[in-house]
Amino acid sequence: MKSISILGATGSIGTQTLEVMRSNSEKYTLIGASANSNYNKMIDIINEFKPKFVALMDDLAYHKVKTYCKDNNLNTEVIHGLEGLNTIASCDEADIVVTSVVGMIGLIPTLMAINSGKDIALANKETLVAAGDIVMDAARKNKVRILPVDSEHGAIFQCIQGNDKNNIEKILLTASGGPFRGKKRNELVNIMPHDALKHPKWNMGKKISIDSSTLMNKGLEVIEAHWLFEVSYDKIEVVIHPQSIIHSMVEYNDGSVIAQLANPDMKLPIQYALNYPERFNAVIPRLDFYKLNLLTFEKPDTETFRCLKLAYEAGKTGGNMPTIMNSANEIAVNLFLENRIKYLEIEKIIEECMNKFEYIRTPTIDDIIYTDKNVKKYVKNKYCK
Ligand code: NDP
Ligand code: MG
Repeated sequence: MKSISILGATGSIGTQTLEVMRSNSEKYTLIGASANSNYNKMIDIINEFKPKFVALMDDLAYHKVKTYCKDNNLNTEVIHGLEGLNTIASCDEADIVVTSVVGMIGLIPTLMAINSGKDIALANKETLVAAGDIVMDAARKNKVRILPVDSEHGAIFQCIQGNDKNNIEKILLTASGGPFRGKKRNELVNIMPHDALKHPKWNMGKKISIDSSTLMNKGLEVIEAHWLFEVSYDKIEVVIHPQSIIHSMVEYNDGSVIAQLANPDMKLPIQYALNYPERFNAVIPRLDFYKLNLLTFEKPDTETFRCLKLAYEAGKTGGNMPTIMNSANEIAVNLFLENRIKYLEIEKIIEECMNKFEYIRTPTIDDIIYTDKNVKKYVKNKYCK
């Protein structure tokens, strides 16, 4: 029996993690679960999985869930705010913490989980982008495993099993290309949130859907791969593969390329991360090679989708530059979703912040939090009139 805590249990990854647990319920128990404001979904989770702790960030949601548990004599302890997230992340009973909150809010709870000796099933890529050095260092010191949930990194993780890291020639990170693949800049000028939220292959939360459309998601994943697999940026290549059947590949020094293939469904990488090194029976439809028509590959168009270029630049510069880039992206995506800025202003704001903010070569955790706050405050003040 594995005891699991989920940070962000009501979101896309959180919900699919619960589906994986439901499919093999004698193998897993839910210890803790957190949400921001979705109290209805949290009440359903409490009724079905009976976790020991739940955390709600939002005031109203916290009071609703707290009252519900009291009125129904439930044993689940309901905790409020960041304190709640941190409790879910570090409680004694959890073996593994699934980090599926969205954005920088995941950083401190992830570090708390690592410092409490929990293995991490990592979906929250922003944490590694903003503070990869600090997070990986803490994981090494505490001897915990960071098990990737992101489908590409889950694939790479499978492709490196049993191989010597020193023999990796390159990582081939696949990308669907998003909803605007093939478009040019003039066609992106008037993109609205509902256009960008329509992903051709994956059904995901809003922030990652916008990131996928700008290719910033792939940029974040390049940085995530750099930290997870200790591979330099010149050895990480993005390949557009619109069918999303190959989830990524690793090329070795002898010319062999090892790939991981499956139907696109996040339940597979989630299940692999929860049970590594064991493999459990399929929770998703199997591939039928007689029905697969064509697998195609293209170079990414970084002149049109400049966020990918900016991410490579930020990653190679290092220090707090990926933090600056990530924070600018988080706030710009929010403003775009609120119809306050235009689509192409997302990349403009990121570039502006990368040029403007003070560069710190070896940032501490406080520097990272300070950078995040300042970047977001600056963008809000300037663009949120
Ligand atoms: P969602 O937006 O669907 O879910 C986010 C979760 O975090 C929800 O439970 C939400 O609660 C909670 N949350 C949001 N804001 C806060 C906050 N301020 N404080 C506390 N909790 C908060 O996101 P996804 O599941 O799509 O993505 C989660 C992470 O996983 C992201 O980092 C993403 O990049 C990564 N990822 C996602 C994939 C996918 O297929 N979805 C694939 C690979 C990686 P509430 O429901 O109450 O709002
Ligand atoms: Mg991915």
